[in-house]
Amino acid sequence: MPSNETAAWVGRAGLPALKLPLGPEINELETAFWSGGQDGGLYLQRCHTCGAWAHPPFPRCRVCKSEDVGPQRASGRGTVYSFTVNHQPWAPDLAVPYIIAVVAPEEAPELRLYTNIVEAGVDEIKIGMPVEVDPVDVGDGVWLPVFRLRRSEQV
Ligand SMILES: [Zn+2]
Repeated sequence: MPSNETAAWVGRAGLPALKLPLGPEINELETAFWSGGQDGGLYLQRCHTCGAWAHPPFPRCRVCKSEDVGPQRASGRGTVYSFTVNHQPWAPDLAVPYIIAVVAPEEAPELRLYTNIVEAGVDEIKIGMPVEVDPVDVGDGVWLPVFRLRRSEQV
């Protein structure tokens, strides 16, 4: 892989500076989720019959079983459902500590997105905090849908 693919990845505060190829294996259903960050958005699957959101995407709606499903831009907002802080440098280029989080998207808080929280101190992150997507270009058309705190809305 070209060396410039890690540039944005390495430069962000709170992101593990880990060199690819540890990127996702992307199937057709997941393309919008992994590439939608090009426009700053978060793309989740939505059923065109009943409106239910889904993640990860599946060929059939989890609620009404319709096969009329496809990606839709979500608000990109959510809350921290859970998190942990990794302090272990699993690879020589892995900058620690960093936050691994489970985010519940605003449109469908029963869903879970496994992600990182960037530009946040490991001591300030708390369950329930409002977050918003802040995609990071890691090359090959892949944008990691990581999140940052919505600082103006913290309680
Ligand atoms: Zn449905």
